[in-house]
This record gives sequence, C-alpha cells and structure tokens, in this order.
Amino acid sequence: MYEVRNLAFSYRGRQVLRDVSFVVSPGEIVSVAGSNGAGKTTLLKILATVLEPDSGRIFVEGADALARPVKYRRQLGYMPENPALYGDMTVKSYLEYRAALKGEKDKRIRRRVSEAVEICQIGDMLKSRIAPLSFGMKRRVSFADAILMRPKILLLDDFLAGLDSSARESAGAWLSTVAAFSSVVVTGHEIEDFARWSTRILVLSQGEVSATVEAAGASGDEVVRRTLAALKGVNQ
Ligand code: ADP
Repeated sequence: MYEVRNLAFSYRGRQVLRDVSFVVSPGEIVSVAGSNGAGKTTLLKILATVLEPDSGRIFVEGADALARPVKYRRQLGYMPENPALYGDMTVKSYLEYRAALKGEKDKRIRRRVSEAVEICQIGDMLKSRIAPLSFGMKRRVSFADAILMRPKILLLDDFLAGLDSSARESAGAWLSTVAAFSSVVVTGHEIEDFARWSTRILVLSQGEVSATVEAAGASGDEVVRRTLAALKGVNQ
C-alpha cells in the first residue's frame, strides 16, 4: 500500500498544496485531475522526492518513505512533465544506459529494455536518434524509462500530453500491464481517458483534493459526469 498523508507545500511563502492525502493499493491506477495551476506537477515532484514537503508524510507498506529516501527512490518510476533525454543517443542505447544507471546487472539489461519497449510499443523506433523525435515519441521513451525496473510506485506527470490518438487509445492497455507490478499515479486533465482506465480519480483544485471519484465498476459516462461536476465545484 502506498499512502500519502497530509502533504502541504509552499513556493516562497505561497501555499500551493494543502493537506493532500490518498492511498493507492498495488494494482491501482489513481488519476489526479485538475486545471492548470492546481498543483499536480508540484504534487508529483514531492512524491518523486524532487521537492521536499513543508509537512506531511509518505508511506510504502507502512514504512516512512521520506525517512529513508534512498530506499524509496529505488522503488520509484517517475516520468516528469518535461523529460530530459539524451538526444544524441538512440532509443535503445538510451534505455540500456538508463537501466545500467539504475543498477541493473549487465546480463539483465536487455531483458529489462525489451519488456519496457514491448509494453509501450516503441520497438520500431529503437534505432532512431532521440533528438529528432516528436514530443509525443519522446514522452513514450520517457515512459519506457520510468517502467524499466518494474517500479513499485509509478508516477506519470501529464501522462497523455503529446500522445497521438492511437497512442492515447493504447495508453490504458499499457497502464493495465504495468499495474500488475506498480501502484500508479497519473496526472493530467483528460477526464474521458482517465474514466476508461483509472480505478479512482482525485480532483485537485487550488492545491486541495476537492473530490474523489471511485471509477472501478462505475460506467465511464457516470465517472466523467461526476468528475466534471467536481471540477466545476458543483455539489454532488
Ligand atoms: P499544475 O501541474 O496543476 O498545472 P503546478 O504544480 O505546476 O500545477 O503549479 C501549482 C502552482 O504553483 C501554480 O500557481 C504555479 O504557478 C506555482 N508554481 C509552480 N512551480 C513554481 C515555482 N518553481 N516557483 C513558484 N511557483 C511555482
């Protein structure tokens, strides 16, 4: 179980997250939806230990993650909003390099890369240099990087940004595969997509979780309706 408890954060005295709490069970895909400026990227940066919260805690299987950040980081896969990739490398050499940096043994690197590549369907671009790829393709490479080591916790910021329509259609299948080994937290604003494959949608407004919409078992239309109502601040 991944548990986020009472997180708060300010940028130079301006509070942008307040009392954010939620849990993600293994196998769950939790989406965090919210308008621009709601605090989604900041929240994921805190979960990824890029930023330190003013207060609040994060637990993995009951253990205080921020008290042991090195161990926690080994369990994380993180796809930031603007991934920094090495443009001179090919997709294959980049992913092999990343697996090595993440501590994978030489003889297992190929297997790691081929599993990630298969999940996110980038096999036909392995020999391409990264620099000329489209933004959406670069995001897929970043996604492959995030899932390389089968992380226990997978954090995907603005997950669907830049993906073309066929990749967007496939994204739910990618996540279902990944959820077999990860607790997944996704951010963005693509409510219809989230409703198709999330187990739960959290609505973040002005740094607070203003609503939680349980999506597992509910119809997609109903989930979209309830999430949009929450985003508009309509009482449910
Ligand atoms: P979202 O991802 O939902 O668009 P962000 O987490 O990027 O929201 O931003 C939340 C708020 O924090 C916004 O008001 C934004 O302007 C502000 N913010 C984001 N990054 C910084 C920063 N580095 N310094 C100061 N304010 C920031």
